[in-house]
Amino acid sequence: MVQKIKTCVIGSYPVKIDTNEIMKKYFDQSEFLWNKYIAQAVHEMITAGIDIVSDGQTRDPFIQIFTRKLKGCRIRNRTEVVEKIEYDGPITLEDQKYVRSLIPKEKELKGVLTGPYTLANSCIDLFYKDEKQLAFDFAYALKKEAQVLQDHVDMMSIDEPFFSNSMPDYGKELIGIITRGISCPTILHACGDVSKIIPQLLEIPVDVFSHEFKASPHLLEAFKEHTFSQKICLGSVRSDDIRVEPVKEIADHIKKASLDNQGLCHLDFDGANPKQNHALFHRANHHRNNLCLKFYRQTVHPLQNTIYLLLILLLSISENGFCHA
Ligand SMILES: [Zn+2]
Repeated sequence: MVQKIKTCVIGSYPVKIDTNEIMKKYFDQSEFLWNKYIAQAVHEMITAGIDIVSDGQTRDPFIQIFTRKLKGCRIRNRTEVVEKIEYDGPITLEDQKYVRSLIPKEKELKGVLTGPYTLANSCIDLFYKDEKQLAFDFAYALKKEAQVLQDHVDMMSIDEPFFSNSMPDYGKELIGIITRGISCPTILHACGDVSKIIPQLLEIPVDVFSHEFKASPHLLEAFKEHTFSQKICLGSVRSDDIRVEPVKEIADHIKKASLDNQGLCHLDFDGANPKQNHALFHRANHHRNNLCLKFYRQTVHPLQNTIYLLLILLLSISENGFCHA
């Protein structure tokens, strides 16, 4: 049976925001309505053929989306932690419901949580003076958000870009707080070169590991040295290079990940067109594998300096390597 590879966008999606409108609303003291920008991000993903759509983290940078609505945080230039971190009600639920209302039935919806370790390392801690305790309280708060989201999304990604800089020895416990008992599939995304921490990553209780295989192609070999049953979301477009890869280059990358596995997988790309400033990747047929390619855009959200878009392909992995039956 030929199963289509599914594609998704990792992290924040940069839409063009009308900053004059933001300023005007600010001075008018009226509410800035983000829905049209969320709709724009969703529309562009769907137009590009992305299968697993997110809200694009459109309304705020990926740290502030969460810290703005958690108790204990004060938003300045960076978020300051000034009291105990506590959940104060749904954070991204309304955006997820809105995205669900926009997407066709055959599309899937991915909820995105910025990970507790990344949140702890991105804030100025004026209260805990203890990174581990702060990270755990973020995790307890995010767990409540995950419980709220699980009935509204098809899968949930926990994005922990800081893991590749410094993987804490409590990483498994930390992420487990969030994922334990969650009914939808969970993904751990960590960008950068994670080749040194693969054994620790593989202990983390999630269903899918999502990494930057295009920027660090040696990760393909590094993962194959390990035995595991989780799936891999294969980063296939670089986010650290303004050059948009030709479609053939992306396709070859995916084929390499597939064919490295005893040549069992066959890809049949039937459409991929550079359009505007997008690298579009439409679809690929692929023996029995599951998820995610990606999709990359060069423009940067004027409000979001930290953009990490990866286009991804999700492959199953067995003890034999990538792509098992
Ligand atoms: Zn990333």
